[in-house]
Amino acid sequence: MKLKDYFIPDIYFASVLRIKPEYFAENNIKFLICDIDNTLATYESRVADKERRDWLDRVESSGVRIAFISNNGPRRVYTFNTMHGYLTESRAGKPFTRKLKRLMKQMEAVPEQTAVLGDQIFTDVLCAKLAGIRAILVRSMDVTGKPFLKMKKFFERRFIEEYHKRTNTNWPE
Ligand SMILES: [Mg+2]
Repeated sequence: MKLKDYFIPDIYFASVLRIKPEYFAENNIKFLICDIDNTLATYESRVADKERRDWLDRVESSGVRIAFISNNGPRRVYTFNTMHGYLTESRAGKPFTRKLKRLMKQMEAVPEQTAVLGDQIFTDVLCAKLAGIRAILVRSMDVTGKPFLKMKKFFERRFIEEYHKRTNTNWPE
């Protein structure tokens, strides 16, 4: 794998809500490890909204085992997870893979059937690629008023462009 490949998602969606629950079975993904902030909820919301909670329920009902992995603190993750009761890792230190691998072990997840779902290339996508699993990228839910996040989006842009070039697309799915 070339260095650049570590920063390019396998697939890019505009939102988790654009991913049909069948997508996972069709692509042999049985273990889905989800980022929380800006993937399933904005930083301001303590829990996922109704639409995204329903989406998680539908994905789970389709036979996918779900877990949460967040670089945010344990309190945020605990509160967020009260509605779900999944396995979690907080302060995960993504892109470092130690906690991702620990979670996979707890889930008895095989790399070939596992994907990370997140909104950031330098944490979520890189973490997945370093662990040798698939990376599903979604557009960040809200970066308004977050200059540091906006800056990261600026540095992500070339990899998004490369993704579109490779997949012959112009927009996320
Ligand atoms: Mg995030």
